[in-house]
Amino acid sequence: MKTMMDIEFHAARLPGREAAILGPSGCGNDVVEIQDLTIDVPSILVKITLEETDPRVSKVLTLLDQYGEERWVSRWDVYTEDELQSAPLLILGLTGATASGGQEYGTTYDTSPACPKCGTGTRQTSALNIDRSDLNEIAKFRVAGTTDGERLVLDVDVERLLAAGVTGALFWPVYAKSKGGDLEELRHQQIFIEHVMPPMSLKSSLNRTKACPDCGRGWYTHMMNEPIRFVYRGEDLANIQDFNLTSEWFGEPPHFCEPLNAVVQGPRHPWVLVTPKVMNLLRGKTKKEQKYQGCGFAPIWIEDDSHDKPYLMT
Ligand SMILES: [Zn+2]
Repeated sequence: MKTMMDIEFHAARLPGREAAILGPSGCGNDVVEIQDLTIDVPSILVKITLEETDPRVSKVLTLLDQYGEERWVSRWDVYTEDELQSAPLLILGLTGATASGGQEYGTTYDTSPACPKCGTGTRQTSALNIDRSDLNEIAKFRVAGTTDGERLVLDVDVERLLAAGVTGALFWPVYAKSKGGDLEELRHQQIFIEHVMPPMSLKSSLNRTKACPDCGRGWYTHMMNEPIRFVYRGEDLANIQDFNLTSEWFGEPPHFCEPLNAVVQGPRHPWVLVTPKVMNLLRGKTKKEQKYQGCGFAPIWIEDDSHDKPYLMT
């Protein structure tokens, strides 16, 4: 595993522009992306991508400090194939398309088992309806999703998953709803997952500052600019299925939105965790196939008494 960093800054005000940073820090074309966003005022956006441990990182940051130039830093993890294949579970993330869907489009839910404060535990009780205008985008990818966290899989992949006898999921039909109210069945189906994991270890990289005070399961968010790392203890994995949901639901509490002049509630949903068996069935084998895959995978981390820090299973 290696952790990568994106360092972004504006270069138009620098004497000698981006060369003032790139030259002295030794950053060549292979790690730099430059966008000229000039319309009226000169605007040059520079993105440097380096491994976190690369000595050029501190050189770049020191130079930006010297020029008093603001920077935006984000980090993400890149895993080896061995780490992916050895993981007990992997986060199934979306990289392609997300549609609008849910209650607004006629999908029904039962809130009786849910936390009255944050809504965690709300159960979907009908087939999922999505916005007809998102259909073309969804159709480009084998795996897609909705802004409410649902995961959709193309029919041919559903057949492969069922033939492989995957556990923990049912596959429900999905309909696109037009403005006029017509429903059209998609080639994608919804992965309907029942099994909920135990709560994560406190060592997971989660922002817990707004977590629901009533149930402790809702209103988690991700750490800004940090890689997503979910940590579980060995005993949490006793009952895992091929498809699982996190106990934690992610999303912001209701907040005032100035442009709308109203209190809005964003999407709230658990994350999906799958076994390498599912990953191998959903993953494109070639570069071309990977373009249409629509999803990515990151292993969970393990915590136990024999290690000081969470680690990856290999
Ligand atoms: Zn709650």
